[in-house]
Amino acid sequence: MTSSPKKCLYCQTENEGATENCEHCGMPLPSKHPQDKQKKISFFIKAFWAIVIFCIVMMYYLPR
Ligand SMILES: [Zn+2]
Repeated sequence: MTSSPKKCLYCQTENEGATENCEHCGMPLPSKHPQDKQKKISFFIKAFWAIVIFCIVMMYYLPR
């Protein structure tokens, strides 16, 4: 994951490795990848289903 090249937003140079600044223009590289966003969305969906299942279980478990 860390070996994937980061593309500089300013000069479009792809920087290999875990560099924080662009090797070409020295500007800070974006720390977040699009994959991280995708990972966050999948985590949110998992958390959502966990809450839904928990609610359904509680509906039948709790006496009324
Ligand atoms: Zn750059």
